Amino acid sequence: MTFIKRQKCQCIVCGKLSFHKECWTVSSYGWSDLDMRPSESMRSILHTYIQTCPRCGYCAPRISKPIEKASEVIKSNIYKKQLNSSEFPKLANAFLCSSLIQENANKFGSAGWSSIYAAWVCDDEGLAGGAKTCRERAIAILQRAKANNQKFAAKSGDEEIILVDLLRRSGRFDEALKTCEEALSKNPDKLQTDILHFEKILIKKLDIACHVISEPIDS
Ligand SMILES: [Zn+2]
Repeated sequence: MTFIKRQKCQCIVCGKLSFHKECWTVSSYGWSDLDMRPSESMRSILHTYIQTCPRCGYCAPRISKPIEKASEVIKSNIYKKQLNSSEFPKLANAFLCSSLIQENANKFGSAGWSSIYAAWVCDDEGLAGGAKTCRERAIAILQRAKANNQKFAAKSGDEEIILVDLLRRSGRFDEALKTCEEALSKNPDKLQTDILHFEKILIKKLDIACHVISEPIDS
């Protein structure tokens, strides 16, 4: 059961009050995609992951919560350009703006995930070019997360799987295969090993499509 409530929120940057949808209860049935995108019903509540202040344009998971130096970023040209970009759907722009703020605050894990959420929005809209741009951004930021010892997955070994899938879906097959081999050399668990071997098959087929975790299990 999914329960979404309309909440009045106050922007921490400019003080404006506005209404936003927040998800209070949701269930997920079935397997996630290889990049950890959940199945339904969680799949359909992506729009509740982000809020945009209608006055100052602050984009964050919760606009009532501060993120370091957010007020500086939202005044920048790069931020304003992203917020109003015609290249991406409005929801993807909000995630990418949030990613810019998180990146500036050195929150590379969150910034990477915001870019992945933007890619999912583009996937849903059938915008392959936009999705690729978002995934390229996610890869670059998540590699900075790794370099800074910032975790971006709850389970050890899942970070490599996320990166392999982002690289594969971006068509960067050589890097995807190299990351896959490195991950396999680190003694992943049974499920992770099955997924990584399945990724290798997809990479060899030059497959950039979305696949679900049940496929390597059932094969
Ligand atoms: Zn505001």
